[in-house]
Amino acid sequence: MPKRRHYHIDDIESCVLCTTPEEETIDHLIFNCQYNQHCWAKIGISYNSNSSRIEATIRVKENYSGRIFFEIFTITACNIWKERNNYIFNQINPTHNSWLERTTTDLSWLRYRVSTDLSDYITSLVNNL
Ligand SMILES: [Zn+2]
Repeated sequence: MPKRRHYHIDDIESCVLCTTPEEETIDHLIFNCQYNQHCWAKIGISYNSNSSRIEATIRVKENYSGRIFFEIFTITACNIWKERNNYIFNQINPTHNSWLERTTTDLSWLRYRVSTDLSDYITSLVNNL
């Protein structure tokens, strides 16, 4: 049964973000995808794929050396998802540069919703991406 319900795209269930023929599961999309591993590493997050999703995320949060983990995690994951959907619905190949552009734009907008010291932190983070 196709995993992409309500859309008749094709019968391919493999991940569109990487070139490996891995099935597009949540674990693959979040933790194991080679495309995504690059994104997570760029933002300073490294997953241990040997534990459950929740355990891995809790451990990542505990070990994350930066600030505002949840916001950065959400923006990173959301833009990975947008890259995936951009291929599915617009046939535009995902690139790390496109993901980075989306992520830096969203992080820049986030600066207007936080305190001055966090805004300065985000500016520094964006400048080092
Ligand atoms: Zn993949």
